[in-house]
Amino acid sequence: MDKDSPAARVRGLTKTYGRSPTEVHALRDVDLDIRRGEFTAIMGPSGSGKSTLMHLMAGLDAPTSGEVWLGPLEIGRMPDSQLTLVRRRRVGFVFQSFNLVPTLDVRGNLLLPFELDGRRPDVREQGFLDELVASLGLTERLTHRPHELSGGQQQRVAIARALATSPELDFADEPTGNLDSKTGRDVLALLREASDRHGQTIVMVTHDPVAASHADRVVVLGDGRIVADRPRSTAEEISAFMLSLEGAS
Ligand code: ADP
Ligand code: MG
Repeated sequence: MDKDSPAARVRGLTKTYGRSPTEVHALRDVDLDIRRGEFTAIMGPSGSGKSTLMHLMAGLDAPTSGEVWLGPLEIGRMPDSQLTLVRRRRVGFVFQSFNLVPTLDVRGNLLLPFELDGRRPDVREQGFLDELVASLGLTERLTHRPHELSGGQQQRVAIARALATSPELDFADEPTGNLDSKTGRDVLALLREASDRHGQTIVMVTHDPVAASHADRVVVLGDGRIVADRPRSTAEEISAFMLSLEGAS
């Protein structure tokens, strides 16, 4: 693996939904490099293209035009069969809607990324998984199914599942959106640690300036374009800055 190439890179990325005259320009000619090991927050108003950008970077959807790179691989036009493998091996994703499998208990959901890859966790991975489960307060919930859990608990299972295989790249869409503030802080600390201790690259969508203040970098989208790209900032600085952007538009 080329350590110097960015973990993810998009060039001229454009995504248009529907067709004229009712087409929606979700992303317009976006260029972005996500550096290895970096924890990036993506902010911006509702409808500005945050989820679309994450889905395209994770290979969950194809661009209308432009390029998407994961490390040295261009995935924008990769055939589905090959893309599925790349996604499984390199990418973790926490969806806004959790996407847990309703018929599997918590343990089954957590082991799913390994099973899809046709294997069991090795000793190191099992240790990390146990650590995740304990720090997310899920130890007593391993035999429960998703419908027996609160929204916050489901969210934590989704996060543990995304981090379980220690993928190079983790995408999280509003991972703290459904959590109380204590659990939200735990989740942010976990993401921070995944980056600091395990060198994982994290991209997180959030509306919350406090959540974004845990990131190394804050990228702001507006109407399908990048309108700001800032280094690590305090929650107060991010709030003030987001307000100034709203005022400018
Ligand atoms: P955000 O996550 O910032 O709220 P999205 O990326 O979800 O924004 O959406 C960007 C724009 O694209 C919005 O106008 C949204 O309505 C539109 N959009 C997103 N997904 C679809 C889709 N599958 N079909 C049609 N329009 C979509
Ligand atoms: Mg969204």
